Amino acid sequence: MTDILKLIKDRDPGEKEFHQAVKEVIESVKPVLDRNPQYRKDAILERITEPERTILFRVPWMDDQGQVQVNRGYRIQMNSAIGPYKGGLRFHPSVTLSILKFLAFEQTFKNALTTLSMGGGKGGSDFDPKGKSDPEVMRFCQSFMSELFRFIGPNTDVPAGDIGVGAREIGYLFGMYKKLRNEFTGVLTGKSLGWGGSLIRPEATGYGCVYFAAEMLATRNNSLKGKICLVSGSGNVAQYTVGKIIELGGKVLTLSDSSGYIYDEEGIDSAKLNFVMRLKNTRRGRIKEYIEKYSEAVYTEIDTSKDYNPLWDHKADCAFPSATQNEINAKDAANLMKKGVSLVAEGANMPSTPEAVNIFLDKKILYAPGKASNAGGVAVSGLEMAQNSMRLNWPSEEVDQRLKIIMKSIHKTCLDAAAEYGVPGNYLAGANIAGFVKVVNAMIDQGLV
Ligand code: NDP
Repeated sequence: MTDILKLIKDRDPGEKEFHQAVKEVIESVKPVLDRNPQYRKDAILERITEPERTILFRVPWMDDQGQVQVNRGYRIQMNSAIGPYKGGLRFHPSVTLSILKFLAFEQTFKNALTTLSMGGGKGGSDFDPKGKSDPEVMRFCQSFMSELFRFIGPNTDVPAGDIGVGAREIGYLFGMYKKLRNEFTGVLTGKSLGWGGSLIRPEATGYGCVYFAAEMLATRNNSLKGKICLVSGSGNVAQYTVGKIIELGGKVLTLSDSSGYIYDEEGIDSAKLNFVMRLKNTRRGRIKEYIEKYSEAVYTEIDTSKDYNPLWDHKADCAFPSATQNEINAKDAANLMKKGVSLVAEGANMPSTPEAVNIFLDKKILYAPGKASNAGGVAVSGLEMAQNSMRLNWPSEEVDQRLKIIMKSIHKTCLDAAAEYGVPGNYLAGANIAGFVKVVNAMIDQGLV
């Protein structure tokens, strides 16, 4: 087992996020490999950790000053054993091959958990849409798609949004794909409603995460009503997480962005959330502006010299990390435990470091790994693909109902797999095992390809 990790590290020494994601999965699936010697014989770990295809390309574009800029584009087509590659595009200066490989790897198991037929992929660019004009974003997206279009399609690979890629970017990407292929197909998800999008897709990741948290609480005869919650991020996932927590009777105290976080002791209600949505989605402003409007709140700038994030150091019952990877370290996890948090549901992908996860598991709190709790987004993307194929649109109640059923099913699948392999209540092991078994069995059925 250690040999696989060594092999991967020797081959790609710089890919630390990818190593982190692989290590977590192979530790969880060890009992599965012990019970099924065939998997080792078929070198399944060696195969599943190597992307089927990695695409890397130049993205030249012109800024508003007439200056040529060059970014790097990526698409990782990780695994297509159970369906076309599916996974988001991330536009953020921190994007590297390692980050996208970890995301594509996680995505493979997440998609397997959704009960829908989707393989795993991820892509993006080190392009930063922040501070760029709409025409600049459009020119970048067009250049990006003028290369990517060769590798994707409704039955091959269906990208979606992620950090830095929202409805605006999906629109520009779709427009270029349509022009190049002369084809109007469901090649991207997260499309606007007027031209092929699904109702509830924007809400899906946040809503799904809260549905999952509610399912976890129900196993302890508890609910979100009256629960004090900490949420990080203020983008798509964070916004709808807050919305659903409010609806289910919880109280949210925090939101953040890459500059700092706000703490509102009185709670972020629907009116305040609407303000944040306008601030972030329309004006593309900073979360700091919240305190100009709501003086009862306090803003704290990110201090990189600190070895912990003060956002996670407030008295609360539940935490919903919804910004980015590794945003909760061991010290943050210890602070959360000290401050009374007994549920962590990950809206972001891999927001907790392995040391933080170990603290959650040791304390036996309700801990949901992102690949289970944030799977609602890709699940509704799958439903968007289904609606596109049928050329019809389901009403929002129907999509929301299906999302609830899927989140309930993922929750049960995790618990069942964890119990079957002797780690009852461990959602991390359950998610990894259930996703892994489904993908691996499909790979074996399809032979050595
Ligand atoms: P958005 O771009 O809409 O929002 C991201 C938020 O996180 C912003 O508030 C952003 O701040 C903040 N953020 C980003 N990078 C950092 C950083 N390095 N440090 C601190 N804050 C940061 O993205 P999403 O809400 O879509 O995605 C959030 C997370 O959820 C990601 O991990 C993503 O992979 C995951 N996810 C998203 C899904 C989706 O459907 N959108 C599905 C499943 C998982 P700022 O405003 O300053 O940029």
